[in-house]
Amino acid sequence: MITLKEALTYSKEELINLKKELNEKAKKQKKIGAYVEQFLDKDLTDSIEGIPVAIKDNICVKDWELTCASKILQGYVSPYDASAIKNLKQNGFSPFGRANMDEFAMGSSTANSCYGRTLNPLDFSKVPGGSSGGSAAAVSSGLALASLGTDTGGSVRQPAAFCGCVGFKPSYGRISRYGLVTYSSSLDQIGVLTQNVEDAALLYDAMAGYDELDSTSAKIEFAKTAPNLNPDKKLTIAVIQNYIDEASAEVKQALLKTIELLKSYGHNIVYKNLLDSKFDIATYYIIAAAEASTNLSRYDGVRFGRRSEKQDSLNEMYINTRNEGFGDEVKRRILLGTFVLSSGYYDAYYIKALKARTFIKNKYKDILQDCDLIFMPVTPTTAFSFDTKKTPMQNYLEDIYTISVNLAGLGGISIPIGKDGNNLNISAQLVCKQFDEQTLLDGALNLEKIIKNK
Ligand code: GLN
Repeated sequence: MITLKEALTYSKEELINLKKELNEKAKKQKKIGAYVEQFLDKDLTDSIEGIPVAIKDNICVKDWELTCASKILQGYVSPYDASAIKNLKQNGFSPFGRANMDEFAMGSSTANSCYGRTLNPLDFSKVPGGSSGGSAAAVSSGLALASLGTDTGGSVRQPAAFCGCVGFKPSYGRISRYGLVTYSSSLDQIGVLTQNVEDAALLYDAMAGYDELDSTSAKIEFAKTAPNLNPDKKLTIAVIQNYIDEASAEVKQALLKTIELLKSYGHNIVYKNLLDSKFDIATYYIIAAAEASTNLSRYDGVRFGRRSEKQDSLNEMYINTRNEGFGDEVKRRILLGTFVLSSGYYDAYYIKALKARTFIKNKYKDILQDCDLIFMPVTPTTAFSFDTKKTPMQNYLEDIYTISVNLAGLGGISIPIGKDGNNLNISAQLVCKQFDEQTLLDGALNLEKIIKNK
């Protein structure tokens, strides 16, 4: 598949042909389930001019159905463009196809989707990761040049690692969340999934910057990263020893090899530890569930999407709509969130989690005071099989290396570094100081180059 950078040189005609080609290919590869929308049967080829980019089903595109892969939102058509989409359109890109996801971005396998599952293009018996599994599968199978995903606790970086593409989540506040359907407002961030680091920088540049429509958008200067990319900087990189120790043997081996390559290139490698990841898991799932329980209270059958047929009284209408519309994982989190916010438990759980979050943030701050970047795993293992039965708790442990980055509001990127014995992808994660995306992308480009040349 051609890259975004190459597509930037395409004429209008060439872009229309490219879209036709993608549409045909996506129809043939329906089995992968990367796209959810009936867009496959529609002719969207010249409806919006620009370079086609696949969009996760939780980002508003004007006049497109928006469902977050949930029954409760089916039939809802977005009346406006998210700010990120508006920026994309203004910069020569066009939304092209709805990517499948875990319902309301809750999950790590894209198995929690009302449309059914998405397959991992590297091995159809494996999950593509999640929640942006459709976005990752589309890029990795050549059904999209690039895609947008969202990352609340790893949902861009983890599926990118499972499917073998680049997944970049900028610092919280860099890309406007206006028009992104909220799961956990203090953690959600739009990110990009691309074929290489340069494309990630290009797509990020086309969306980032302050937005007055989003009160959490960072009101700081934004300079484009792609024109300033430098893959030859020598950096001080902190390797997180306790994270690497916990990873599976094959992941660990690939990471250790990569560290040697980084050293021989001339980077200064130092070894540090972060908190035991069990504290991150507890903190994240309390805060994310608490925020989700309030954010999802708006889906009541009155304002958005579907309403239950069973509606003898107002109360019954609310209850039946939510009961029929939400899947099990979403209900589990609403219950958990409501519990940790209830008056008897608020101090014991929610307030404690907020304190732990500050602690986690400070840990990162300490390390990044003396270092340019952090190097660590993305996932403990490579893509797991659809047959692996996991409890909710085991699913939550999929995110041990990604969620603390969201809790700290930092930028992170996952870069392919090797393969396991079954030819599945292994990636490494780089993390930067808040808003230092330039150094993150420079380091990532260097890592990509080192891996290519090894
Ligand atoms: N797997 C995590 C969760 O289920 C992260 C999801 C995400 O980043 N959206 O919450």
